[in-house]
Amino acid sequence: MVKKIKQVYLGIDIGGTKIAHALFDGKKLITHTQNVGTPGGRSILNVVSGFYKKYSKRYELCGIGISTAGMVSDSGKIVGSTGNIKNWYGTEVKKILEKRHNVPVVVENDANAAAYAEYKIGLAKGSNPLLMVTLGTGVGGGIVINGKVLRGKHFAGGEIGHIKLSYSKHRLCTCSKYDCLEAYASGNGLIALAKHYFPDKKNMHSTKALFSVAEREKHQDNLLALRAVEDWHFYVAEGICNLVQVIDPEKVVLSGGLSLKVNLKLLNKELKKMLLPAMEKSVDKGLVVKSKFGNDAGILGACLLVSDLLI
Ligand SMILES: [Zn+2]
Repeated sequence: MVKKIKQVYLGIDIGGTKIAHALFDGKKLITHTQNVGTPGGRSILNVVSGFYKKYSKRYELCGIGISTAGMVSDSGKIVGSTGNIKNWYGTEVKKILEKRHNVPVVVENDANAAAYAEYKIGLAKGSNPLLMVTLGTGVGGGIVINGKVLRGKHFAGGEIGHIKLSYSKHRLCTCSKYDCLEAYASGNGLIALAKHYFPDKKNMHSTKALFSVAEREKHQDNLLALRAVEDWHFYVAEGICNLVQVIDPEKVVLSGGLSLKVNLKLLNKELKKMLLPAMEKSVDKGLVVKSKFGNDAGILGACLLVSDLLI
């Protein structure tokens, strides 16, 4: 059934606004990642099938790896927080696609899939445990322990954006609760800081403007922008510290668009102030690293998970 020659996997990453896809040969992506808009609900499966049919003319496709926003059950069904994708909740993704195409299909939450890619082939290869922290519009993450993604009883393992930084009910989170890490350490959290430091300057109410001014020493608002960026690092460090004290990871991988803006020196300084003294040395030894995969991590992880089934 499975032809070992030319083993190629179709990798798909389903987000709230776009679906990315690429082909994987067991070690690396062999095509550039291409994007199409995310249609509503279950027509997503038809988009995936369209890609499958297109590529199966040229390649011996032996599996489909799907990384998706939302919580995913062990049986590959979407069971929660669907990242604003309409009618995606409840979809039996794995069951339907395996029936249609007769190849193994793995469906995994996007952050979990990305963490797995870091564990298998990233800078933190083989790290045990591995913690991945994704900093973007929101905050996500994934935990790999003994080579397995920590999915949890309710498939919400690694949803680190919703650990609490305080109980003072200062900031509302996207989850409708207060003072989650996401409300402080995400892009939206950073914009809240910009509004705090520059209440009357709307042109400063974006992450782009804030980082730009923080990098320009001679700008009149430079010091205030730096304060905001430093506060943001403090929040990121606080979240990482809480998680590090619980799982004691070998490596922490930062990913997501905002991770590019993290100053590791500053973050490490804050982390060392917070962690148990016995853990401080690990920070100096490079506990925290930045992902090199960019937006491809989810596709890579999903493909690696499905390729594991065939080894
Ligand atoms: Zn929350």
